[in-house]
Amino acid sequence: MGLNKKSVDDINVNGKRVLCRCDFNVPLKEGQITDINRLTAALPTIKKLIADGGKVILCSHLGKPKGEVKPELSLAPVAVKLTELLGQEVKFAADPEVVGANARAAVAAMKDGEVILLENTRFRAEETKNGEAFSQDLASICDIFVNDAFGTAHRAHCSNVGVAALADTAVVGYLMQKEIDFLGNAVETPVRPFVAILGGAKVADKLNVISNLLDKCDTLIIGGGMAYTFLKAKGYEIGTSLVDNEKVDYCREMMEKAEKLGKKLLLPVDSTITKSFPSPIDGPVDITVVKADAIPADMMGLDIGTETATMYADAVKAAKTVVWNGPMGVFENPVLAKGTIAVAESLAETDATTIIGGGDSAAAVNQLGFGPKMTHISTGGGASLEFLEGKELPGVVAANDK
Ligand code: ATP
Repeated sequence: MGLNKKSVDDINVNGKRVLCRCDFNVPLKEGQITDINRLTAALPTIKKLIADGGKVILCSHLGKPKGEVKPELSLAPVAVKLTELLGQEVKFAADPEVVGANARAAVAAMKDGEVILLENTRFRAEETKNGEAFSQDLASICDIFVNDAFGTAHRAHCSNVGVAALADTAVVGYLMQKEIDFLGNAVETPVRPFVAILGGAKVADKLNVISNLLDKCDTLIIGGGMAYTFLKAKGYEIGTSLVDNEKVDYCREMMEKAEKLGKKLLLPVDSTITKSFPSPIDGPVDITVVKADAIPADMMGLDIGTETATMYADAVKAAKTVVWNGPMGVFENPVLAKGTIAVAESLAETDATTIIGGGDSAAAVNQLGFGPKMTHISTGGGASLEFLEGKELPGVVAANDK
């Protein structure tokens, strides 16, 4: 994709005010951060900027306050946690305008190597519209802009794109660099055989991903809810399984495309079915495994079957590069997680480069304890999907070229 972007290794930040856009969009429960992965992922870049003597001004969005000041979505708890993780004070620049009088005063008082955190960028209504005024505010408090927020790289907002255009220097951080290297290289210049695995709920969400990956990969594996639209396109009875009737023709086209390109498109040969969707989602369920073309009209498929799981695991064994996005079934329920676990295990066992494309699959892999066995787990669900679609991400494009 020709993504030769300047990074924090290509600049001198000594004595400079460096605005660093991070992804601190952490899950919160009653004011407590319940998962610090995104914070630890941001540390290498922050430490580098501190070590090089920059005045480090951190910013991020948190949740969806929609341009209003929502105290429960303040980044204040993140400053506390970051202070602990860095072993150095991260001063919180409380400010309802994000970059208002308070934040400006805090920046003006900074010494080299100090760190402050601005308030939630989405407290400003302009943020998600890439409005000029907020971009200018952000640019006015920095000499250098660093974007290390991969999770929002597929959006053009003030704090990643608007400010980058106004800042003299705009580079990417280590986290962003890593995502570009892994996702970009895996899809554009993969070591073959390249196996892509797609799952999750809906075909419609991943239309462009399916088509792009078919161009790039050697084998495309389909599981999860989206598989049933493909099975219907094959003329099978799929009972009450999840289906996107408007996309049946599309699935047929994709099967023809695979055939024409000489690519393998693997679909479930059996399915784990139930009478109804479990409620609660992790509640008790009665399952049966049937052949993919033998789903009774009143039953629904909620996981790939055992034979399919073995077939998919075998396909992974033959691969040198594997990219995976989307669970194979309703993995939130242990009884329906077997397909997802089998695929995760096969990725954990292979020597191939294994890349997890964020979102639910990343959560599943981490929950199942396979995280450390993967080559790369993307921190951005939506952004990694757009990468897999072959799209250029505005947040990446905005950084200076080398
Ligand atoms: P994200 O969109 O967050 O990146 P993802 O792309 O990994 O996540 P989604 O498309 O959101 O995945 O789908 C994940 C959901 O799909 C899970 O909640 C799972 O329970 C559900 N799911 C998987 N298989 C089925 C199925 N056969 N029927 C219904 N739902 C399913």
